[in-house]
Formats: sequence, C-alpha cells, structure tokens
Amino acid sequence: MRLSLGLGFKQGKGRLAVTHSQQCSTGLFVPQSPPLDPEKVRELQRFISLSKRLLVMTGAGVSTESGIPDYRSEKVGLYARTDRRPIQHRDFISSAPVRQQYWARNFVGWPRFSSHLPNSAHQALSSWERHGKLYWLVTQNVDALHTKAGSQRLTELHGCMNRVLCLDCGDQTPRGLLQERFEVLNPTWSAEAHGLAPDGDIFLSEDQVQSFQVASCARCGGPLKPDVVFFGDTVHRDKVDFVRRRVQEADSLLVVGSSLQVYSGYRFIITAQERKLPIAILNIGPTRSDHLACLKLDSRCGELLPLIDPR
Ligand SMILES: [Zn+2]
Repeated sequence: MRLSLGLGFKQGKGRLAVTHSQQCSTGLFVPQSPPLDPEKVRELQRFISLSKRLLVMTGAGVSTESGIPDYRSEKVGLYARTDRRPIQHRDFISSAPVRQQYWARNFVGWPRFSSHLPNSAHQALSSWERHGKLYWLVTQNVDALHTKAGSQRLTELHGCMNRVLCLDCGDQTPRGLLQERFEVLNPTWSAEAHGLAPDGDIFLSEDQVQSFQVASCARCGGPLKPDVVFFGDTVHRDKVDFVRRRVQEADSLLVVGSSLQVYSGYRFIITAQERKLPIAILNIGPTRSDHLACLKLDSRCGELLPLIDPR
C-alpha cells in the first residue's frame, strides 16, 4: 500500500505554508486487535494495584494512536508498507550529502511531526505519575509525546527529535529554531511529501534534496544532528546505567507498545528478569519477551490504560 499524505507546500511571503489536502486517519497505523477482554483488564488492574514501584517502558506502539507509524507492525508498520529503511548513524556522520537528504526530508516532515498530540495512553501514564503510581517511565520513542502529556519521571532512551545537537561543539538547540533557519535559507524551495516515518523522515526526489540548503551550528559552524540515537549508534553508557538502576529499584515492569526487538530496550527486560520482577506486556502482536511475562495483553494502549485505576 502506498501512502500519500497529500501534503502540499506553497510559497507565500517568504515562508513555506503547509496545506493538508488529506488528513491520514490515526487508525491507519494501528494494527488490528481483538476486542477488549474484561478479565484481562482486571488482571492488569491487579498487576498495577500490587506494584509499589512500577517501571513502565514504552515503544512506538504507544504513539500509533497519535498518528505516528511504527516500523515493525504487521501490515501497517513502515517496514510492511514501504521498502524504505531508517537512516544509519555512520552514513549521517560521514557524509554531507546524506545529511542534506536527511534534513531536507526532516524539514518537510517537521510541521506535521511536531504537531502530533499525546493520546489517552500517554495521558494515562502521566496521571499514574501524578498519583504516585509510576516510579519511572522509559521510552524508546523520540516524538516528545510523553513530555507533551506532562510526564516528568521520564528517560528518553533514544533522545528526542525536539532537540538538535552540534556534532563538533555539542551545543544543544530547540528543533523549532532550526526550522526557522531552514526557512530563511530556503525561501523558494518547495517539495511534496509522500509518506511519514516514525522519526519524522519523509520521502523526496534527488533534485529536491540537492537544492536544499542545510544550516550549520550557529555557534561554531559544525554539522547538526537531531539529538536522537540513529540505527547503528548506541545509547550513551551513563544513560544505560541510569535506567538499569531504575529497573533494579523497581518492583514490577510494564511494557507498553513495544515488540522489544531492539536490544537497547530489551536489555532492561533481561535486568528485570534477573531481579525476578513480575513483567506485564501490553502490545498488539508477539514480542521478544512474551515467554517472560506473567501477563500479556494484545490491546490498544489508548483503549486499555485509561481503564486502569492508579490509586
Ligand atoms: Zn557547534
């Protein structure tokens, strides 16, 4: 299935304006799931009620109901829908043309990507924190939706697209500012987007990419990179150790919307297993750790989590 978001970009008074001729429906990215089983809801409620130091780890499945596609879901994930693959860290670091292509696509995708809102699953987890139910939240997502929902006891394992990092001096700046600099540098540039990936990437022709002017670090002139961990890169040691300590301090682990295929998240399941923590998994479709879970739920995160009473 080819997905066209029908994004059109029109030049107007020196700024690019986005018109959405066709809004993609959220359901497009959410895999099919069986109807909610009341007994399973009760089991999850028991699991949550019994835990005093609950650690929750979320993946792309928590954001599909906000309209952001994941990579791996059967039929609806990006891998199933297209032959595109995410950018590789080594290519980005070593090649200016790769960075140009990345930023051109990211520039087009940004207005839409940054406009996504947290759904009822993000809101539920934020309310669990306010009720003192959530000890720590770890997300593999880079979409800032947990932050937008108000979560604070949060580690973004793979960083966040809302921040930009200079590869030379390490200066950190908001992604929104970079968008304004791109607009100034590319007053006549136009593009039409044909699909949106989980990291805000978008697909463009070679000609469109080659005419795109990339901004560099305002402080030192170095190349810029979103503050996220690309495929082929590793999560910083300090961050891994921090999350591992949170897992060791926790008394139970709930996985939400992750197939746990990526090792950077899976390793904390291993830590939890070593600590003999009870593990519950909420994910539509099988995961790498189903055999380790005392409870497995194949439901929509946004449908199930708001039903749980955190008190
Ligand atoms: Zn710099």
